[in-house]
Amino acid sequence: MSETGSEATASEHEYAVELRGVRKHFGAHEVLRGVDLAVRPGEVTVILGPSGSGKSTLLRTINHLEQVDAGTVRVSGELVGYRRRGAVLRELSEREILRQRARIGFVFQNFNLFPHLTVLENVALAPISAQRRPRAQARAEAAELLERVGLADKAREYPRRLSGGQQQRVAIARALALRPRVVLFDEPTSALDPELVGEVLDVIRGLAGDGSTLVIVTHEIGFAREVADTVVLMDDGRIVEQGPPAQVLDQPTHPRTKAFLAHVL
Ligand code: ADP
Ligand code: MG
Repeated sequence: MSETGSEATASEHEYAVELRGVRKHFGAHEVLRGVDLAVRPGEVTVILGPSGSGKSTLLRTINHLEQVDAGTVRVSGELVGYRRRGAVLRELSEREILRQRARIGFVFQNFNLFPHLTVLENVALAPISAQRRPRAQARAEAAELLERVGLADKAREYPRRLSGGQQQRVAIARALALRPRVVLFDEPTSALDPELVGEVLDVIRGLAGDGSTLVIVTHEIGFAREVADTVVLMDDGRIVEQGPPAQVLDQPTHPRTKAFLAHVL
């Protein structure tokens, strides 16, 4: 497209996701107070932090579910929600926003599957309707993705017949069907019974191992230690500490990180 013509292609960008000076308020409450975050392609970033610290809002800005008040958000170098004309930022049309959003996978705490569609239809829907891919091709790819999350035998079931862990694995397959540049997870195991957490973490672990770019909000500290390249600690709308898991989790320097870890470990 002409507005991106001067930019390099996705694979040539240093960062898959890049936030600079991002601020967001709701009424008088400033929820993001100047967030800088850079995620390289193929990296796994885990975001930790107390409830209300702005983790979900941060993820939502990346997917343009929230518009920022200040700062910039880029996915593969492309400004999210805006185009630059000289020094001026112009808002994108709704259609262009949908196009951008289709390149970003989002997995919610509560799965959000379409109840009236089968598992296979849930996974194939967006590629067919939003990306205009041929129906047969989208369904074949959906079947492959269901196999990848261990649910090939559930393709014709409706979501209500599945366990929470199975539903979340379908939601992950659905996110992958868009061939996203990055997949965002907002507490993907928080709504699950404890015995179902492992099967979902296994799937995410597999994606991490395949070189997918992932940004994961979770309270699973052990999982963070295992899969994260970078752990980010948010507190009150700011990133107070970030680095490799061994540094942030085992040798935290910021008092808020120490307090948070003392609380959850
Ligand atoms: P976290 O995911 O870390 O728990 P959130 O990003 O959900 O934090 O929320 C951060 C703060 O922003 C909370 O105080 C929350 O109440 C507030 N908030 C989030 N979304 C909205 C909204 N749409 N309108 C008003 N306040 C909101
Ligand atoms: Mg949240």
